[in-house]
Amino acid sequence: MHDPVEFRSQHLARFHADPAIFVAPGRVNLIGEHTDYAEGFVMPVAIDFATLAGISPRSDGKVVVYSENYQQERTFDAATLPAKASNHWSDYPLGVAAILAGEGHKIPAFSLSLWGDVPLGSGLSSSASVEVVTALAILSLIGASYPGPVLARLCQRAENEFVGANCGIMDQFISANGEADHALLLDCRDLSYKLAPIPADVALIIANTMVKHSVAGGDYPTRRRESEAACAVIAKHRPGVPFLRDATLEDLEKWGNEMEPKSLLRARHVISENLRTVAACDALMKGDMAELGRLMAEAHWSYSKDFEGSCAEADTMVELAQDLPGLIGARLTGGGFGGCTINLVEQRHAKAFAEELGRRYATATGIVPQIHICHASGGARKLA
Ligand code: ADP
Ligand code: MG
Repeated sequence: MHDPVEFRSQHLARFHADPAIFVAPGRVNLIGEHTDYAEGFVMPVAIDFATLAGISPRSDGKVVVYSENYQQERTFDAATLPAKASNHWSDYPLGVAAILAGEGHKIPAFSLSLWGDVPLGSGLSSSASVEVVTALAILSLIGASYPGPVLARLCQRAENEFVGANCGIMDQFISANGEADHALLLDCRDLSYKLAPIPADVALIIANTMVKHSVAGGDYPTRRRESEAACAVIAKHRPGVPFLRDATLEDLEKWGNEMEPKSLLRARHVISENLRTVAACDALMKGDMAELGRLMAEAHWSYSKDFEGSCAEADTMVELAQDLPGLIGARLTGGGFGGCTINLVEQRHAKAFAEELGRRYATATGIVPQIHICHASGGARKLA
């Protein structure tokens, strides 16, 4: 991570004020894909790529935001902050300010500097880390605080309502509530959660296929519609099934013949993925890494074959990892149709694994991947 001491002195040099420093991590989802909008389970981990925020008060009524990543500064009047997004990175901090203002907080004048090493737009949730770190920073300046789950919801609203991105709650939730050396099983229905230990000698190797996923593209909403259509069929027979979270594989056996074939497959992924995600948490609790690896493999092929949410490159990345020393489990993570795979790997093999996987993938596809070796890290906090 960028040295917080250096980050502080850069803020001091730019704004002539000593900042309070906060950090919020990016994340990777271990298992639980397309289960969030079915009110099911996800199990993300906070990673050691994070965004830092420095904040200091101002006396000129201005809100000045600076991103070191973009080397850009923007100035606004604290009393009349923009109410709408402008398709600029500043939408993320301004969105948080807008949501906090909507909660009745008076937003004071401040200087905010941001710097992050979460790769931008790679599906590791740099956006949520910016929102959560900004919220902590502004709240500390006004002397307020929220419990982590509430903070996460406010930040999700900043992204949904201000930035205009239709994301679920997972990213902000894990960034705000993650714990070092733990994954977090989140129940997307009521936001209750459970921490499950990840052994310290396990590395999270995130392999970017470099194939761009686009949540705005047609595939994501189509899959969602298809799986929700299956749920509607079940609900005709069992009114207690408003979401696939409440459905069972037996429901599909009974009424699958009334569904469009694609809908049946999508639902089979979502229902089985929910079961796998809960089972994966149990496996972690017991320290049964072999079982976790088995569940991750099953999850990948369910995602690829039933949900048709993978792509040739991601399937290749998963296949190429299979016989590499140290692999515990590998699967495509995130919204699908490209993006990154997550590989759980024994730490002592991590470096060789990452290098060899990169070589194999480049040879097989002609694409040079980005491969990151990460560890399960802590959630958002103030730095001393
Ligand atoms: P992801 O969350 O997967 O990284 P998104 O497209 O949701 O991808 O969010 C990326 C956007 O978040 C960037 O385009 C930028 O607007 C904003 N962002 C992330 N990190 C920073 C940063 N350090 N400084 C300024 N803006 C940032
Ligand atoms: Mg994002």
